[in-house]
Amino acid sequence: MGYAGNSAYHANACFGHLPISTSDSLLTNSYLQIAVPTPLYQVFDYRARDAEALSVGVRVLVPFGRRQVVGVVIGRSDSTDVPVDKLRTVLKVLDDEPILPPALLELLNWASRYYHHPIGDVLASALPVLLRRDAPATLPRIECYRWLREPNHPVSARAHVQLYLLKRLTAASGEPVDAQSLSAVSRSWRKSLQPLIDDGAIERQDLDALPCNVSTDLPPVLLDEQMHAVSAIQCALGKFQPFLLNGVTGSGKTEVYLQCIAQALIRDEQVLLLVPEISLTPQLMNRFQRRVSGCMVSLHSGLNDTERLQNWMIAAKGHADVVIGTRSAALVPMPRLGLIVVDEEHDGSLKQQDGFRYNARDFALMRAQKQQCPIVLGSATPSFESLNNVTAGRYLELRLSIRAGGAQAPMLSLLDIRRQKLHEGLSERLLSAIGEHLEAGRQALVFINRRGFAPTLLCNDCGASATCKRCDAHMTVHAKRQQLRCHHCGADRPLPPACETCLSAELDFIGFGTERISNALQERFPDVPIARIDRDTTRNKGALEAQLQAATSGTARLLVGTQMLAKGHHFPGVTLVGILDADRGLFGTDFRSLEHMGQLVLQVAGRAGREAERGEVLIQTRNPDNPMLQTLVRDGYPAFAQAALTERKIAMLPPYAFVALVRAEATEPRAPHIFLDRIIDELSNWQGPDLMILGPAPAPMERRGGRYRAQLFIQAERRARLNACLKDLTAFIDKLPEARRTRWSIDVDPVDLF
Ligand code: ADP
Ligand code: ZN
Ligand code: ZN
Repeated sequence: MGYAGNSAYHANACFGHLPISTSDSLLTNSYLQIAVPTPLYQVFDYRARDAEALSVGVRVLVPFGRRQVVGVVIGRSDSTDVPVDKLRTVLKVLDDEPILPPALLELLNWASRYYHHPIGDVLASALPVLLRRDAPATLPRIECYRWLREPNHPVSARAHVQLYLLKRLTAASGEPVDAQSLSAVSRSWRKSLQPLIDDGAIERQDLDALPCNVSTDLPPVLLDEQMHAVSAIQCALGKFQPFLLNGVTGSGKTEVYLQCIAQALIRDEQVLLLVPEISLTPQLMNRFQRRVSGCMVSLHSGLNDTERLQNWMIAAKGHADVVIGTRSAALVPMPRLGLIVVDEEHDGSLKQQDGFRYNARDFALMRAQKQQCPIVLGSATPSFESLNNVTAGRYLELRLSIRAGGAQAPMLSLLDIRRQKLHEGLSERLLSAIGEHLEAGRQALVFINRRGFAPTLLCNDCGASATCKRCDAHMTVHAKRQQLRCHHCGADRPLPPACETCLSAELDFIGFGTERISNALQERFPDVPIARIDRDTTRNKGALEAQLQAATSGTARLLVGTQMLAKGHHFPGVTLVGILDADRGLFGTDFRSLEHMGQLVLQVAGRAGREAERGEVLIQTRNPDNPMLQTLVRDGYPAFAQAALTERKIAMLPPYAFVALVRAEATEPRAPHIFLDRIIDELSNWQGPDLMILGPAPAPMERRGGRYRAQLFIQAERRARLNACLKDLTAFIDKLPEARRTRWSIDVDPVDLF
C-alpha cells in the first residue's frame, strides 16, 4: 500500500529515546507500519514478535512518546529508516482478525489523501469510541425482552410508557425484542418495564444475535415512475451505478428505497441507508420496522458508547441486513454490502465540520464503486454537484414528478412586505391566511430559521448592542429563560435590566426568533395549541418525539420551527406554510447561500398539503423582484438550479471548479495571518490561471470563542492540481514551527465557509 505524503517516520525521533530490551531485536527483520491517532501526517514503524503473522487492519497497543495508544497496522516492510536501537515494539495485539477489512482500509487511506487528513486520525474516526481504546472487538450478548402473558395487575391508562412497552412486546407475540428498539420511547423506559417483569408478564432474555425484524405491512402498488426507478436500481444490483433519485417532496422516494432494499435482501446483501441526523427519528425507524424483514440496526449520535459498539459490531460482522445511520455510518465495515442509499443527499450535515472533514455522500460513492454496487442519492432538491454529475453522464437520473397518494404540489407565492405594518414580524396577510386555515380545521406551519426570542438586544440611547465577549457576534435574547446566549460559542449571561454600556433602560429587541414568533402567534390565536420545534425545545430525550407526535396527530394546530421542521416529516394536516426569513439566503457571504436558501424553502414548502387538500406556501420578502427568488417560486427547483449554476460557472466555483479552505485560528489576532502568509509564500509557485489562492482573509466571523480566525481559499480548475497543491502544503506545514502554535485545518470541498 502506498502512503503518499505520509513518510514512514519513527515515534522515538519526536519524543526521545526510551530503552528497549536488546534480546528481541534479533528475533524479527520485519517491521510494521502503524497508523497512530496523532495530528502528524505520518505512519510509524514498529516491530513485533510475530510481525509476519499479523494481518493488516488489526489494532495494536503501542508505546508512543510517553503514552500507550491504540494504532492500526496498515502495512509491513522489510526495512526501516529508524535505527535499530530506537525502534519500539508493539505491546499487545488487540484483534485476531482485521477490525477494518482491506477494501475499507484502502478507501480510508484514499480519504486521508483526498481530504489531507492524517491517516491515524481517519482510522480512529472510523472506529466506535470503545474500539479506539483497547476494548475487545467482540459481539456483546444482546439484551432482549419477551412477552409471556397478560399482566396480573392491569396497567393504568395513564402509564403511557408502560402501555407502549406492553403493546410492542405483545405485538411480537412472545418473540424477543431488543432493548435498544424499546428505549426510543423514553429515557426511563427500564423503570416502567420493571413492574411488568416483577408481575411475570415480561421476561428478560439475552441473545447472541440481534433478533430479526418481521415486517407487518404490505407494500403499496407503485406508481409508474416509482416502478421505473425500482426496476432500474434493481437491474443495477451487483454492479456500480450511481443514481440520482430526483423526486419532489412526498413523491414516494422512501417507498422506492424500501422496495429496492427488499430486492437487495433477497440477494442476501447488506444495505446501508444514510440519512441526515434530524431525519433519523423513531417515526422513520418505525416505518422501516413495519416494512423490512431482516436484522436492522441504527447508528446515530443518540446511542451511548456500548450501544454504538454493539450496533457497529453487528454491522461489521455481517449480521445486520440493513444499517440506518447518520454520517459516520458511511465508514462502518459491511462485508455483504450490496446497496447504498443516501437520503437528502444535498444535506449539509453529511459533511463533517471538524477533524476528519469528509463528506459521507462522497465517501459512500467511492465505497459503492469499490464494492461494485449501486448507490442511490435521493433528494427533492439535489445538490448542484449531483445535478452537474447527471449532466456529465456520471449519474443516472430517475425522476419522480408527482406526489404519491394523490396529493398535489403546493402553491408557492411571494408576499411583498415592504412598507407593510408587521405584527412582530408577521404580515397581516400571512396572519389572516393562518386564521383561515385554522378555521377550516387545518394546521399551519411558520418557518423561521432562528431560535431564541430576538437575535439582537439594542440600546435606543447609545446604540450599543449586547455582544458576546468571546465572539464577533450578537447575543441572542432568550426571553423565557431571561438570558442572553451566544449561538456560536455557547456563552450565556442573565438578560440585563439596563444597557450594559450606558445603563439606559431603553432597550429594544431587534429581529425575530422562534420564541418571539410563537409568542406573537399565541397572542393572536389564544386558544390554538402551538408546538415550537427548535434545538432549545427539543433538547431533552423524547421531547422532539413528543412535539413531532403532537404535530402529526394534529393536537398542535400551529407549528413554529427552524430547519428541524423542514426535513422529511409528514404532517398530514398542514395546509399552509409561512416562510419568514428567506431573504437572508439571498445575500449570504457564502457562495452556497443561494443554493441552501432554495433547498430550504422548497423543503419547508414540501410540508404543506401532503394529503387531500392542496398546500399553500407564503414567503414573506422585501425582495419580491429578485430574479432568483421569482424563478424558484414560479418555475421550481430545476429552473432555479439551472440559473444559479450558470452564475457558478461564470464565477468558476464548484461544481465547475474545485476548492479548499485552509483555516487558521489563534488567541493572538495576528498569528493566523502570519501563519497563512508563510503558506502563501511557500505555495507561490502554484499560483497561475488554473489555480488561485485568495487570502489570507479574516473569517466571516473573525473572532469566535475567544480565538481569531483567518482563512485561505484555494480554487483550482482541476481536482488533481488542487490535490497536488494541498499535498505540498501539508508537507510544508509539517515542518513549519508556527504550525505548533496555531490551530489550523484543511477543508476540501467545504460546505460552509464560516
Ligand atoms: P418522500 O420520501 O419522497 O417524501 P414517501 O415515500 O414518504 O415520500 O411518500 C409520501 C407519502 O405517500 C407517504 O405517506 C407514503 O406512504 C405514500 N406513498 C408512497 N408511495 C405510494 C404509492 N405507490 N401508493 C400510495 N401511497 C404511497
Ligand atoms: Zn446604551
Ligand atoms: Zn460567543
